[in-house]
Amino acid sequence: MRQPLIAGNWKMYLDIGKAIKLTESLLAVVEYLEDREVVICPPFTMLYPIGRMVRDKHLKLGGQNLYPAAEGAFTGEISPDMLLDCWCRYVILGHSERRQYFHETDEFINQKVKSALAAGQERRQVNLTPILCVGEREAERSAGNQESVVAAQLSGNLAGLTAEEAGRVVIAYEPVWAIGTGRTATPQDAQAMHGFVRQWLAREYGAGVAENTRILYGGSVKPENVDSLLLQPDIDGALVGGASLKAESFIRIIKYEV
Ligand code: PEP
Repeated sequence: MRQPLIAGNWKMYLDIGKAIKLTESLLAVVEYLEDREVVICPPFTMLYPIGRMVRDKHLKLGGQNLYPAAEGAFTGEISPDMLLDCWCRYVILGHSERRQYFHETDEFINQKVKSALAAGQERRQVNLTPILCVGEREAERSAGNQESVVAAQLSGNLAGLTAEEAGRVVIAYEPVWAIGTGRTATPQDAQAMHGFVRQWLAREYGAGVAENTRILYGGSVKPENVDSLLLQPDIDGALVGGASLKAESFIRIIKYEV
C-alpha cells in the first residue's frame, strides 16, 4: 500500500512570522491525519526554526533544492547534510522552475538525486527522500510528445540508480503548463500520465518498485479539484504550490476525501 503524500512547495514566499503561524495551524490538523503524510517545503532560511517546531511531529519538512556535494567552496549552496541538520526528510529536485530559470540539466539533477539518497543512508540512518519533478511543456503536449519527454527526464534523472535506490524516490508529475497558471490537467489526463510513469518504472526496475513508488500530481491543485485528482488509481498525492501558502486552502487539500 502506498501512503498518500501531500507536499506544499512554498517557493520564495512568506516571511518568518507568517511561516510560523501557518506551521502552527498545520500542526494542529496534521496530527490527526495518520493515514497520509504531509510535508512542507519552506525557503532555506526558515528550515531551522520550522524544523524545531515539527521535528517530533507527524508533519514533515522538506527542502526545495540541494547542491550535490558534502561540503566545499560553493557559495550560496546548501548540502544534503545541512538539510538533514534542519530535520528535513524530503527534498524537491528537478522542479520546472529550476530547470527553466537555473538551467538545470537532467545530468545535474541526476547528481542531486544520488546525493540525496546517499546522504540519507550515511547519516543517522534517516532518509532524505527526493521528490523528483518531471513534466512536459505546453508545446510538447500539443505535439503529442508528453510521454517521450517524461520518459527522457526519468531516464536521465534516475540514471545509474539500483532498483533499491529508485524505490526510495518519490516522483511528482507536474505538467509545466499547469504550474501556477490555474489550469489543471483533467483527472483522466493526469491518470494517463501517472499510469505511463508507473509502467516506465515497472519496465526499468520491476513490478515491486513500480507498485510501491508514490507518484504525486502537481499543477494548480486546489481545494476544488484535489478530491477528483486523488481519486485516480495511480495518483498518490499532490505537490502544491500557490494553495499551500494559506492555512485555509492547504488544510482543505490535506483533508482530501476520496
Ligand atoms: C509547484 O510549484 O510545484 C506547483 C505545482 O505550483 P502550483 O500549485 O501553484 O501550480
